[in-house]
Amino acid sequence: MVKYTMPKPIVVIIGRPNVGKSTLFNRMTRSHAAIVEDTPGVTRDRHYLDAEWEGKSFIVVDTGGFYPEASDDIFLQVKEQALFAIGEGDVIIHLLDGKDGLTPSDMEISRLLRTSGKKVLWVINKIDAPTREERLYDFYPLGADELWPVSAATGYLYEYFMDALILVLPVYEEVKTDYPKVAVVGRPNVGKSTLINALLSKKRMIVSPVPGTTRDSIDSVCAYYGKKYLFIDTAGIRRKDAYGYSIERFAMVRAVRSVERCDVAIMVLDVSEGIVEQDQKIAGIIESLGKGAVFVLNKWDLMEKPEEAYKQWEKDFRRKMWAMPYAPFFTISALQKKRITKFFPVIDEVIKERKKRIPTADLNKVLREVLSSMNLPSHRGKSGKIYYITQVRTEPPAFVVFTNYPALFRDSHVRHIEKVLRNTFSFTGTPIRIYLRDRDKEKKK
Ligand code: GDP
Repeated sequence: MVKYTMPKPIVVIIGRPNVGKSTLFNRMTRSHAAIVEDTPGVTRDRHYLDAEWEGKSFIVVDTGGFYPEASDDIFLQVKEQALFAIGEGDVIIHLLDGKDGLTPSDMEISRLLRTSGKKVLWVINKIDAPTREERLYDFYPLGADELWPVSAATGYLYEYFMDALILVLPVYEEVKTDYPKVAVVGRPNVGKSTLINALLSKKRMIVSPVPGTTRDSIDSVCAYYGKKYLFIDTAGIRRKDAYGYSIERFAMVRAVRSVERCDVAIMVLDVSEGIVEQDQKIAGIIESLGKGAVFVLNKWDLMEKPEEAYKQWEKDFRRKMWAMPYAPFFTISALQKKRITKFFPVIDEVIKERKKRIPTADLNKVLREVLSSMNLPSHRGKSGKIYYITQVRTEPPAFVVFTNYPALFRDSHVRHIEKVLRNTFSFTGTPIRIYLRDRDKEKKK
């Protein structure tokens, strides 16, 4: 089967505090809260979300969410956003406040954007009626080819702006491949590029870059014992800034874009630093996008007493990554090229698990086990019953559980069903989804 792995363009909104960035962000992403769905135990972060207009999909980033808007120096603050947008965005929306008019810092930022070579839309917010449109005159000194008036709050003129936006979105080439698609993700400096470089320089590996349309989205095909894998966005990982660092704040958006295209994510952790919140957030992206996950504990060469350290890590890892108890992990040293090819067989295994389809008869045998080991919920004289389970999807495997009162069941019930399913069918390395449905509702249809 040929699959399509098309990177989604990234649209970044920047602007002074209170110009309406999050209002615009909310409007653009309203019906598409898909990237970060609510997963128990996973930190939620809603500063980047899927959006769609006229069938074109893209990711919107609200920089106001990334950078707390408390700083005294508004210019420096917006400059940070602008540098982020220039580095990561395909299209930049410079949002301005039609009520306040043009400020000197707006002018400065706009000059910076104009010299960046990026596509920029200058959007004047808070224009909510035809009589307000004369406010646009204020903004002519920006020297923009075109100004887009909108009201993010009411939606006035919003369609015209969105039509213009999708016209400037880059069209990425579709990479058609049936190779397993692997994304390497993790915080900056955990050793991603060291790992990728080590892999790509191994003797038995045949490597060929697959060009995309941007410098960042170049994938590499890598063969391990004759079997080929597509490593996603390898150029983006290897690219560093002038100081040799990948920049902290870019990690989340990059992870979203790469993970979205992969089958399995290799999540790199740095054992010299332990598991921190940003690790949990990136892991949460993998889980909520329903992708396979394999963790590698890198820099293991730094451990002085590896055996003791391993026990401690194992505990810590399962505690902090408790939402992903299904994910395999092992130690590596990217620097010393130790154990770095160990994950290829694991990737194959996880991919197989993601495609597994369990016959309904087998599922219902397990259902009996679920029922015998579970306290069914009851509330005000209603008792919850489970009738049957069926698998409705793969990649990731998804199941529908038919009951009489779905609302009676809690997270803990669903987790119990998941546990029993995993005890029998494993699903190593992949999230699974369990949906409760009202059986009688289905009957009435
Ligand atoms: P990235 O930002 O995740 O791509 O991280 P890099 O690959 O640039 O690595 C960051 C730093 O960690 C560099 O100084 C690497 O030499 C170092 N590093 C990477 N892997 C290892 C490892 O396995 N052991 C040790 N001791 N250092 C490592």
